[in-house]
Amino acid sequence: MRTLDDLDVEGKRVLVRVDFNVPLDEQRRITDDARIRAALPTLRELREKGARLLLAAHLGRPKGRDEKFSLRPAAGRLAELLGEDVTLAESLDDVPDGDVVMLENVRFEPGETKNDRELAQRYAALADAYVDDAFGAAHRAHASTEAVAHLLPSAAGRLLEREVATMTGILRSPQRPLVAVVGGAKVTDKIGVLDAFLQRADRILIGGAMCFPFFKAQGHSVGESLCEEEGLEPARRVLARGGEKLRLPSDLVAGREFAADTETRALDRVDVPDGWMGLDIGRRTASGYAEVIGDAGTVFWNGPMGAFELEPFAAGTRTVAEAVAESDGVTVVGGGDSAAALAEFGLADRVTHLSTGGGASLELIEGKPLPGVEALS
Ligand code: ADP
Ligand code: MG
Repeated sequence: MRTLDDLDVEGKRVLVRVDFNVPLDEQRRITDDARIRAALPTLRELREKGARLLLAAHLGRPKGRDEKFSLRPAAGRLAELLGEDVTLAESLDDVPDGDVVMLENVRFEPGETKNDRELAQRYAALADAYVDDAFGAAHRAHASTEAVAHLLPSAAGRLLEREVATMTGILRSPQRPLVAVVGGAKVTDKIGVLDAFLQRADRILIGGAMCFPFFKAQGHSVGESLCEEEGLEPARRVLARGGEKLRLPSDLVAGREFAADTETRALDRVDVPDGWMGLDIGRRTASGYAEVIGDAGTVFWNGPMGAFELEPFAAGTRTVAEAVAESDGVTVVGGGDSAAALAEFGLADRVTHLSTGGGASLELIEGKPLPGVEALS
């Protein structure tokens, strides 16, 4: 993969694809600017090397032009962080000159998500070189992430470079033991990751609602727990292959419903009675997982251990997060909700690498080629 070291940018206008897909509140104020901050090293390096910047990014999933999905808040925040004026270009046909200019949401253009070549040519006509730093969008072949990379001298930015190096590093030559902690809502979302780690990890610790297809396959009752039917078959397969490596919870915390003020109950086993749903791993499981994490050379964590958004069911995820933060090994966290949990516990800066890309980091682990990365190779 080509990097900034391979690209001559002095005096050039560089189109930089960034991932500024930040969460906004009702007043369209940014509630977490981590993704904008993550792009700063690349943007500063390009400015120091004498480049003028033309930024491209998407926000949400707009259907056509829609002010609700404008990148104006992101442009404002970037200006503060960079200490330079950032001009927002409303239209591709009228892009102002300037040291730092930002295009409006690329998804306002219908050709963007179709990887349309004509749209990519319009982007390319506006710049002399292309840098992709949008790791969070690298698993999509879109006009601003894939097609345009073939039309200009192109390279990966520092964030994309680091994301790819970290993920491929833990797969190829991890410090052992390599422990994968996999949770979240659905087995089917994570089956590719489980398959990858069945081959490579020394231990796989499973939590979250994705336990229930495993438990059901083992003949346990799951009560009203979130239990994905399509997850049963993959869970059986993983159980058959997992052997000693695979660890499932041995106790749970249950609630009457998915709510913070619901009646709760600690279950000493994993059978969930009718009228109850399993919403967190139990204390014994959490401390057992923390011990394994403490002895790890490398930890990859994706997916919360329970419904951590609800305080009565956050303890399992918090215990795991703290163990990851305290580990002396290499620690990598991927996944939108896992990252949010880590941030909520104030531990985001205590891990080796917090990935900015949920889907993209999972696809890298699964060994799938990322279109945005392939285009730079
Ligand atoms: P990530 O974004 O980190 O990959 P996922 O999107 O797979 O994680 O899963 C996160 C979601 O899973 C959270 O919204 C959380 O509430 C939910 N979840 C985890 N455990 C449970 C559970 N036992 N019951 C219901 N929902 C759960
Ligand atoms: Mg998620």
